[in-house]
Amino acid sequence: MNRIRTGFALGITLAVLAGCAPKEMPPTAMTTPSQPATADTNTTSTVTKTDAEWRKRLTPEQYHILREAGTERPHGKAYEEFKAQGAGTYVCGGCGAELFSSAHKFDSHCGWPSFYDPANAKNVRTREDRAFGVTRVEVLCAKCNGHLGHVFKGEGFPTPTDQRYCINGVALKFVPKPAEAKTP
Ligand SMILES: [Zn+2]
Repeated sequence: MNRIRTGFALGITLAVLAGCAPKEMPPTAMTTPSQPATADTNTTSTVTKTDAEWRKRLTPEQYHILREAGTERPHGKAYEEFKAQGAGTYVCGGCGAELFSSAHKFDSHCGWPSFYDPANAKNVRTREDRAFGVTRVEVLCAKCNGHLGHVFKGEGFPTPTDQRYCINGVALKFVPKPAEAKTP
């Protein structure tokens, strides 16, 4: 019981520290293990590489996030670039699988790229993450099992799903939508 309470308190503290909590976060915002979304939606990953191959393919920062479940610092370079990007698709920085669309971007003010829905759900998988004594839902690329970030539900954001896919910008690669033919 105490452990659960500590976990909840820590979770709220972490959320506040990250600056992601909307003004009035209802107590229901915390995810619980009984929610269906916390189930491991494991799919067969089709991109498998050795550790050495990943190190060769990825930048050290990408490797840390995608392969070691690291987290980039908030409001970093990747986030600034994300905010400036227009229409297009976000693919996995590790394997190129389509993951998110600019159509689902929203500004959560948390300092990391935020989407309210995955563009291509079959390429996004989730699993329960109990690191730091807090139960969260980790978001991974289903193709290469790369760590992308976490998803939070029911925080009160005015989006169609009220889900926040809080994703490391370094783990994504932006593919701009081809420019439409310009008419003079
Ligand atoms: Zn991938």
